Amino acid sequence: MIPSFPIRCLANLDRGMGAGYHSIDLARFALRPGEGRRLDLEAAPGQLELGGERYSIPGDAVPTRLDLSRTATGYAVRMRFTALVAGPCTRCLADADVAVEVDAREVEQPDSMDEELRSPYIDGDELDLAAWAHDALALEFPLQLLCRPDCKGLCPVCGASLNDVDPAEHRHEPEPDPRWAKLRELG
Ligand SMILES: [Zn+2]
Ligand SMILES: [Zn+2]
Repeated sequence: MIPSFPIRCLANLDRGMGAGYHSIDLARFALRPGEGRRLDLEAAPGQLELGGERYSIPGDAVPTRLDLSRTATGYAVRMRFTALVAGPCTRCLADADVAVEVDAREVEQPDSMDEELRSPYIDGDELDLAAWAHDALALEFPLQLLCRPDCKGLCPVCGASLNDVDPAEHRHEPEPDPRWAKLRELG
């Protein structure tokens, strides 16, 4: 997929991450205060980690809309995308995926002492799109990613997926309680 604006990113090819943009030089749009620009491009949020498992976006890059505004001394940016994130079900480890919607905003006023007006993703005129996309996606990522809403998880005794068996049939004989064995000996 090709971004609708012919902008290139110098850092893009260095990290071997495929088609997504890593950083964008905002100065190249030569916006004056009050002016804005809409960009449709691709972001590469990388992988997410949840409970020791890794989750990734098939194809690595996700179509992303940026609304960029030049303020008096800095920038305001809105980023929107919907990413399909895939990885193991948090209950049964089968393949699972979920569509995660991101709508995030950043403001960067370089002179401001107010942290709300400083963005960790904008340094001068450089927007670190990959880092922002990653963090914004992680914030919206659900605490559990299930293969299906009623996933029954794994049998705690033998590890079989309880989605694949009839719970009424899948039973294990309870371990005999050693105290009863003792009593029997006494009897
Ligand atoms: Zn599952
Ligand atoms: Zn079992």
